[in-house]
Amino acid sequence: MNKTAILQSVIICPNCRHQKEETMPTDACQFFYECENCKTRLKPKQGTAVFIAVTEQ
Ligand SMILES: [Zn+2]
Repeated sequence: MNKTAILQSVIICPNCRHQKEETMPTDACQFFYECENCKTRLKPKQGTAVFIAVTEQ
């Protein structure tokens, strides 16, 4: 299997609109990203390079 493609994507924080370019594996459904500006935890929406805010229960 050769599915280790790397995505270079610009993450835009949905909370504060802070932008950051990040490299991540496409297989990133377990990947969490913390916004360095407002510290909101973000998680990639599966199958896309779109990040959504994570609210912990
Ligand atoms: Zn933010």
